[in-house]
Amino acid sequence: MTLQSSSRFDLVVVGAGIVGLAHAYTAAQRGLKVCVVERDAACVGASIRNFGFITVTGQGAGDTWRRAWRAREVWGEVAPQAGIEAIHQGLYLTAFRPQARTVIEAFLRTEMGEGCALLEPAEAARRAPALQLDGAQAVLYSPHEMRVESRTAIGLLARWLAEAHGVVFRFGEAVLEVATPHVRTSRAVLQADRVVVCTNTELHGLFAERLAPHALRLCQLQMLRVMPEPGFRLPGSVMADLSLVRYHGYSKLPEAAPLLEQIQREEGESLAHGIHLIVVQSADGSLVVGDSHHYGAAPEPFASEHVDTLILRHLRETLRLREATVTARWVGTYPSSPDTDCLIDAPDDATRVVLVTSGTGASTAFGIAEEVFAGW
Ligand SMILES: Cc1cc2nc3c(=O)[nH]c(=O)nc-3n(C[C@H](O)[C@H](O)[C@H](O)COP(=O)(O)OP(=O)(O)OC[C@H]3O[C@@H](n4cnc5c(N)ncnc54)[C@H](O)[C@@H]3O)c2cc1C
Repeated sequence: MTLQSSSRFDLVVVGAGIVGLAHAYTAAQRGLKVCVVERDAACVGASIRNFGFITVTGQGAGDTWRRAWRAREVWGEVAPQAGIEAIHQGLYLTAFRPQARTVIEAFLRTEMGEGCALLEPAEAARRAPALQLDGAQAVLYSPHEMRVESRTAIGLLARWLAEAHGVVFRFGEAVLEVATPHVRTSRAVLQADRVVVCTNTELHGLFAERLAPHALRLCQLQMLRVMPEPGFRLPGSVMADLSLVRYHGYSKLPEAAPLLEQIQREEGESLAHGIHLIVVQSADGSLVVGDSHHYGAAPEPFASEHVDTLILRHLRETLRLREATVTARWVGTYPSSPDTDCLIDAPDDATRVVLVTSGTGASTAFGIAEEVFAGW
């Protein structure tokens, strides 16, 4: 078969979500000729459905936290060039239970607490009037976080990669087979020295036989967009007690065990639905609010009103809101591993499969991509 030069690349990336785009960016920075193949007409997967909450504080100690640090730096460099606005920065996590304050104090004693601070409620009220602090024990403040509007940021990033870095995008074209150097799509056969497969929830497609031993399940999340009263401003991203028993940077601390027991007694239903609160704000003032976590081989796509009601109760307990009109609801899905936050597999020397197997891809993808290339 004769291949035209337009079909030959140093690297083909499968999937135009944040993980694929991070690999495309990292490769382009190294001077490689890159093509991204995406089966949909635009990315409509997890990468546009998330909070756009680029989180460092609370990520699991070790690899995930380190990758998040690096990814946060890269986002800081890339976002202004790609025309992506950092809508707000920092994190405020309100501890309502004394045991939650103990977890924050323990977190601040770790290396991951660098730059973060415990705010007494009076100080938090002064700095962040939007927080509902009645009965609060303390607030963890972290300056590291950044929030982007994912539903537009992913498209802007792809456009910038094409225009500024010459990355070729082939949208609306499914990859059917990868046998590097050949990549067979629904429209063509491409040739590439290397291939990175970043197909997220497609556990039964490319390299299914290599993914099977990893016991991956799908995790489905419910999300809401809520319009508060005019003029309501969040100081940064907001979380609360339930996040301390969910995000590994806190939940793996020994001090989190008694908190988990207490929350199981008091908020057993929310825990059963995997609910913890994250709230971020968009440029139009609306809040993106979530989330829940339901696991399975094929989670049903039907969002539960009851779960939304629970999430909205946590919202009202955590923010001083006069109005909260739901304007949109959606679900999103990611693969979940019992063992690792990120799976990097090498079917052969020239091929990598990279799946973020936790809800951390927006926060870590740029760091992961650098590691993939460093070790390749
Ligand atoms: C609701 C929700 C909220 C989240 N919130 C956050 C957050 O705030 N912060 C954070 O860090 N992380 C968050 N996450 C996790 C994060 O969104 C994911 O880890 C990340 O988006 C995964 O990126 P991806 O590129 O692997 O997946 P995707 O964005 O799903 O992209 C994969 C792409 O591959 C394409 N594809 C699949 N198969 C093929 C094929 N055969 N050929 C061509 N294309 C193919 C798909 O069409 C898709 O566009 C959240 C996740 C969800 C679901």
